Amino acid sequence: MTTLETRYHDVLQSIQQTAQQAKRNPDDINLVAVTKTWPVETILEAYAVGMRHFGENRAEELAEKRPLVETQLGSDSGIVWHFIGTLQSRKTNLVADFADTFHALDRLKIANRLSRQLQENGKASTRHLPTFLELNVSGEMSKSGVNATDWENSATQRQEIRTFGETVAKLPGLSLQGLMTMAPWEADPDFIRTVFKRTRLLAEWLQEEMGLERPLALSMGMTDDYQLAIAEGATHVRVGRAIFGERQTY
Ligand SMILES: *Cc1c(COP(=O)(O)O)cnc(C)c1O
Repeated sequence: MTTLETRYHDVLQSIQQTAQQAKRNPDDINLVAVTKTWPVETILEAYAVGMRHFGENRAEELAEKRPLVETQLGSDSGIVWHFIGTLQSRKTNLVADFADTFHALDRLKIANRLSRQLQENGKASTRHLPTFLELNVSGEMSKSGVNATDWENSATQRQEIRTFGETVAKLPGLSLQGLMTMAPWEADPDFIRTVFKRTRLLAEWLQEEMGLERPLALSMGMTDDYQLAIAEGATHVRVGRAIFGERQTY
């Protein structure tokens, strides 16, 4: 086995074990292989060993790599392209054109632009983009994400999140798939786990408030903390380094 294949199998096995320990079905957990900074050849190699979900965090990089991969594998390869990074409003068209799922919606302005472009670009029928709202639960990570740092105590924060969720659910082209969060860097595991747990509880609250039939998905967990995230209910883990090794710098 190649190093890539070995690492991939190790991650799959770890997902399986962690899910079983948490009494969850491993099939409910989607592994998004984060290929940012890695060349198209690496994606093709990853595809050959079975990976189908790929994550990119820069819009230009997604727009460049996806067509190159499709030149090799065709457009019906079964690959799902996840855009996981913060999106600037002048680049929404790239995500509307090239992403199959968007994990980091943090502003209404971005949602409105995406919706308009998805309707325009889909020509005959509107292109459909399942979307996760990015929540800033820990308050430590960065400025990105809707403020949910004190959602349990703050009616204002809850109202804002609810309104955002309802708006996104209604916008043509977008559907509300779930919530996404980032754990703080270098925090202790208990603290990180609490952030994931609070995100899950927020998703459960929002599902009930919105009267949704199905639970919201949860995009949380990266190389250093995906096991903690799975223990707290993650349905999508975004893993780069554990599969591909340390990234090359841009
Ligand atoms: C880079 C990145 C990841 C993957 O990080 P690793 O530590 O390499 O697993 C996950 N999510 C987002 C938003 C990222 O930018």
